[in-house]
Amino acid sequence: MAAVAVPTFATAATPNPPAWTTPTAPYHLVGPIWYVGTQGLAAYLVRTRDGAILLDATMAENVAAVTRNIRATGVPLHRVKLLLVSHAHFDHAGGDAAMVHATGAAVVAGAGDVAALESGIPPGETSYGVIRFPPVRVARAVRDGDRVTLGGTTLTAIATPGHTPGCTSWTMRVVDHGRPLRVIFPCSVSVAGNRLIGNRRYPTIVADLRTSIARLAREPADVVLPFHPEQADVRARAAEHRLIAPSLLPALMRTAGEDFERELTRQREEAR
Ligand SMILES: [Zn+2]
Repeated sequence: MAAVAVPTFATAATPNPPAWTTPTAPYHLVGPIWYVGTQGLAAYLVRTRDGAILLDATMAENVAAVTRNIRATGVPLHRVKLLLVSHAHFDHAGGDAAMVHATGAAVVAGAGDVAALESGIPPGETSYGVIRFPPVRVARAVRDGDRVTLGGTTLTAIATPGHTPGCTSWTMRVVDHGRPLRVIFPCSVSVAGNRLIGNRRYPTIVADLRTSIARLAREPADVVLPFHPEQADVRARAAEHRLIAPSLLPALMRTAGEDFERELTRQREEAR
């Protein structure tokens, strides 16, 4: 379908998983980190002495549920000072504009996704067309290694481009029950309909995805909190006190690498 034929807020050809918009009560993870997303899309709240940091607002239609969850953790909305973005797709960033309106938070995102966030047009070329989302102003663009600090708590950006050019993973150190832990919020590394061959809007996509998967596989992570929570069984692990799992991120990246190479082969054969 030509991009011009796509309405302003087009929906995907296949319906979204119902879990993406199913509300769920917030729950504690480790240290200052709470789960405040829906069942199927993660939003993470980091509480600090000077307010809170939110990682992803999820979809536009989820903002009421996510703000309810934030308040339920004891954080008034005006205390959410920063909104950190994983990547510029409607399921993770579609709610950013409404979240900024509700909280006044400043948006921090990977430099490679700023144009997409500020236009509401996702980057790259995909097999499912263009799914627009409400645009949002980015207060600060980050690159690999940049730090974001609030109330004595620092999150560091790990540039993991590929799924989108500005796809950003975040990492922080926490102390939980006296134990120091490194937490990683990995950005998506799935192909997920991205055109790998002849992607004129994102020519380095293949090399970027490979590099990012290898990079994340090497990152030490005691706790892995992805933005599609089922990938790490976040709810079950939290309930069963199994969040500390240092071998989880390399295992996830092994599977992601295999999925990526298989999809690359498929697209190469298709393009022949
Ligand atoms: Zn995505």
